[in-house]
Amino acid sequence: MIIHLNGAKEDITFDFAVSSDALDISSSETEYLGDVKVSGKLSYIGGGYLAGGCIEIGKKFLCDRCLKEVETSAKLPFEEKFASYETEDATLFNGDEINLTEIVRDIILSSEPISHLCKENCKGLCKICGKDLNEGDCGCDRRTVDPRFSVLENLKI
Ligand SMILES: [Zn+2]
Ligand SMILES: [Zn+2]
Repeated sequence: MIIHLNGAKEDITFDFAVSSDALDISSSETEYLGDVKVSGKLSYIGGGYLAGGCIEIGKKFLCDRCLKEVETSAKLPFEEKFASYETEDATLFNGDEINLTEIVRDIILSSEPISHLCKENCKGLCKICGKDLNEGDCGCDRRTVDPRFSVLENLKI
């Protein structure tokens, strides 16, 4: 994902499609589907450039709670400064090109949630009979009380 600057002071639009293998973003939990699309605009900001745009990615994973296979896509907006000199709030670039690969990889990896859920309030599977509780209750008695808390149960407030 290299943008050739050619000393440009005008905006440069970019549009890339890269395989997840080429981006090296393989993960044991998430399978990335199809190409990762990165599009946006690079603007000259004096001494450097500002890249802004959107990363589009398709993925497949198993819900941590109900184990259902989920296919989804995400749009990740991004904005990154590039400077030709060392500075804290920008990525350094050398020569006449800017490479977005590293930034795009970082954004995708940091967007991965700690838990993968089919929906935020997924009820998961019954611990006793294994039924998917999103489809309705099974009637099992799942109230196994932790002995450390049983004393609280008898506490009348
Ligand atoms: Zn689920
Ligand atoms: Zn059950």
